[in-house]
Amino acid sequence: MSDVVSLLAQIEDTGRDTRGPGYQRAGFSNTERELRDWFLAEAARRGLDTEIDDNGITWAWATAPGDDAVVTGSHLDSVPGGGAFDGPLGVASALAAFDELKASGALERAQRPLALAVFPEEEGSRFGVACLGSRLITGAIEADRALGLTDANGDTFADVARGYGLDPNRIGTDEARLEKVGSFIELHVEQGIGLINTDQAVAIGSSIIGHGRWHFAFSGQGNHAGTTPMSHRADPVVAGSRVIGDIPVLAAGHDQAVATVGRTLIHPGGTNVIASGMSFWLDIRHADDAVVKQVLESISKRAQDHAGDTGVQVSISQESYSPTTYFTKELNDRLISLLPNAPLLPSGAGHDAGILAPHVPSAMLYVRNPTGVSHAPEEACEVDDQRAGVSALVKVLEGELGIVGVAS
Ligand SMILES: [Zn+2]
Repeated sequence: MSDVVSLLAQIEDTGRDTRGPGYQRAGFSNTERELRDWFLAEAARRGLDTEIDDNGITWAWATAPGDDAVVTGSHLDSVPGGGAFDGPLGVASALAAFDELKASGALERAQRPLALAVFPEEEGSRFGVACLGSRLITGAIEADRALGLTDANGDTFADVARGYGLDPNRIGTDEARLEKVGSFIELHVEQGIGLINTDQAVAIGSSIIGHGRWHFAFSGQGNHAGTTPMSHRADPVVAGSRVIGDIPVLAAGHDQAVATVGRTLIHPGGTNVIASGMSFWLDIRHADDAVVKQVLESISKRAQDHAGDTGVQVSISQESYSPTTYFTKELNDRLISLLPNAPLLPSGAGHDAGILAPHVPSAMLYVRNPTGVSHAPEEACEVDDQRAGVSALVKVLEGELGIVGVAS
């Protein structure tokens, strides 16, 4: 039996960013595999039966597998330069909650099966599509499209998945497996400031606001930086940069909308070379899907204008979109009755629970993050709050498993 704090300590050195603080735990990388193997070993050590399904989702059965299972877990991959808690906190808390249920004898009285789950490539930092594992199992992304996705090295997801031990022909919607899930509860570090000024360490998720990613590709005329007069240039970097510079104002025109460019690519990328291509990836989020569309339209129009002014071409393609998702009401009502003091928080961040919610009853618990920072090394979670998160998860699992008369 391990405490959540010591479980996290076991993986604190895995995938550390060698170029700075934080972690590099890309989806379907050797690092993610190392973390998955850690989870498998911890599950095996507890006597749990483990399996990796056709989409790379890892399952550990705490009871005999069966229908109407209660499932809890999260992910182990990170964004580039990510923090220690986004994902691993939910996985370590699932193991710690199992330990408590086992030690108290409560698990023996479970009326439903219990499984722990780890989802691959949640951040989408390798293939551009967030929550790839949960999108595949639910059919939220078509298998053919997913298999054709490429990473920064040009490797296809089909090839990388094969190298990961998956059969590309079997990747895709798995309704039989989904049907076994009666409720999914994901515990996650809070990725904002929602709990900082409260006396509560744990919140219940109300919704995940709509969010999408788009790829803007500008193409112009590559040329010599010294011999090409300014009047004779078709420089895609100029067009793309102007659009990026306009985005804060365009997004601010829509209340509560957020739009971000966190990744750009200049081709071929020589200091003395006028680029022939420039790409950026745009992330837009708002609770109202119509507003996301309006923000995208205003930025797309500006991109066409700047492209026209600078003599370059622009093409815009959607990489992913998830409409605003509300967690399952009946399940959330049960969580609220078990954790009456926990605030209800909407999330600006996407999660596997949000992808699963339209298919299986799903809910989330958020654990206080004293910095309010996430997707960066400063992401934090106090040890007392980590333990409070596990206690809340245990309560919820006891409720879902139909365990009664257990002191908690
Ligand atoms: Zn996460």
